[in-house]
Amino acid sequence: MKFISTRGGSSVDCSAQAIVKGLADDGGLFVPETFPDLSNRISDMLSMDYAERASTVIGSYLQEYDQAKLLSACKSAYSRFTNDDGATLVKLDDNTYVLELFHGPTLAFKDVALTLLPYLLREGADITGLKEEILILVATSGDTGKAALEGFKNAKGIKICVFYPTGGVSDMQKRQMSTQEGDNVNVVSVKGNFDDCQTAVKKIFSDKAIQSLLKEKGVVFSSANSINFGRLVPQITYYFSAYCDLVNGNQIKLGDKVDFCVPTGNFGNILAGYYAKKMGLPIGKLVCASNENNVLTEFFETGTYDANREFYKTTSPSMDILISSNLERLVFELSDRNAELTKNRMNQLKNLGTYSVTEDEKKRLLTEFVAGYCDQQDCEETILDVFDEYGYVSDTHTAVALNVAFGYGVGNGGFKNPMVVLSTASPYKFPQSVYKSLTGKYVSDAFKSAEKLYQLTAEEIPEQILKLKEKPVRFEKVVDKNGILDSVKEFLGC
Ligand SMILES: *Cc1c(COP(=O)(O)O)cnc(C)c1O
Repeated sequence: MKFISTRGGSSVDCSAQAIVKGLADDGGLFVPETFPDLSNRISDMLSMDYAERASTVIGSYLQEYDQAKLLSACKSAYSRFTNDDGATLVKLDDNTYVLELFHGPTLAFKDVALTLLPYLLREGADITGLKEEILILVATSGDTGKAALEGFKNAKGIKICVFYPTGGVSDMQKRQMSTQEGDNVNVVSVKGNFDDCQTAVKKIFSDKAIQSLLKEKGVVFSSANSINFGRLVPQITYYFSAYCDLVNGNQIKLGDKVDFCVPTGNFGNILAGYYAKKMGLPIGKLVCASNENNVLTEFFETGTYDANREFYKTTSPSMDILISSNLERLVFELSDRNAELTKNRMNQLKNLGTYSVTEDEKKRLLTEFVAGYCDQQDCEETILDVFDEYGYVSDTHTAVALNVAFGYGVGNGGFKNPMVVLSTASPYKFPQSVYKSLTGKYVSDAFKSAEKLYQLTAEEIPEQILKLKEKPVRFEKVVDKNGILDSVKEFLGC
């Protein structure tokens, strides 16, 4: 399948190239030339396990990959999840469900894609005849970094370097990254916020001087951020899988519509839902939930994206983002794939921090999306309310989505379609915030608060958290944002 850039300046003939390159040469994002139609395959998918559903969805785009090998890679990736299931559906009440995506190795939904991406990249390199070593640069707001490190550790022919904002991640997230094992990994803390990290990494990708320096060393860049199509495509699976589970559990009939509410940061997760809809999955509304960094809520309400605003550090750090990279893919579709217009808008975003879509585009947007946000106070109250009402313990990101979903329901006199709220992290990644929400007490030590949270809720502490305490810290380097390029060079020994 051919992939084209959202900015019109380049295209590649196969999915493997799109995945290996990560970002298009013109700075745009790769999108499939057409969306495969899986509406007639949903009934087949009902009887499949998660890995089989994944290889069906992923294989419909990655046609150049050997489909039998893809299936076995999916089986191996999702065997690292509890019950071999990338997405566990939990019922809260007759119309509300939580889709738990965090039962993988690093306890965040990023694992759904990052347990598989090393295979997609390695195989993609073979398909395209790439001989060079691959260097993955990752900017992370917390969860991507750890999931990518864990996915790529000791991968043959691949090195990985992760940048996270100092003070912008939770204690548990920081500890997970700084104790990372593997001889091909590097972790650097950056004085700045996530947007600083992401902007610096994107700049390195399109820096011609560093590219030729790398070429001499036999190294090429790739990306494990959700700008890479290989990150996005495994995420489409769980929308289909949740739908199948609802049908199998007699909660809906095949063909009924379902709404999804997604805690959103870089717009990768919810975009995967939009792609699922384009592929024929009966989705009603996609509800985009943000925290106080509510640039997306405003975009959906006004048609203007304006990143010129105060940045808030919140208790849901993985959503503390003002420049949502994947929105570019949505804006591209919204303009009927007008690459020239998309390029101009992205230039405006880069130069002025803002751009607008037309009134007509905005109207069409609101036929598919709804947006809302939730501040930290409401997030805390939601964690408590949901625990009181359903006995369900949610992390801070999931609570933002639950709050927005409930608000949407109230605004409409109840849910019209069943509502599936995506749960993106284990509460034990943010134990201080969750424990404080439930008791009003703040316990500053992450492990102590995890223990207290367990005593209060009887929700098992995942083994990954228990083990973390014993692991030695391997990475302590802190740089300022202008030092990112140098730390990449140092890692490569140039
Ligand atoms: C990454 C992340 C998000 C945001 O997902 P996007 O794809 O960036 O919109 C939400 N919650 C958690 C826990 C995350 O790790």
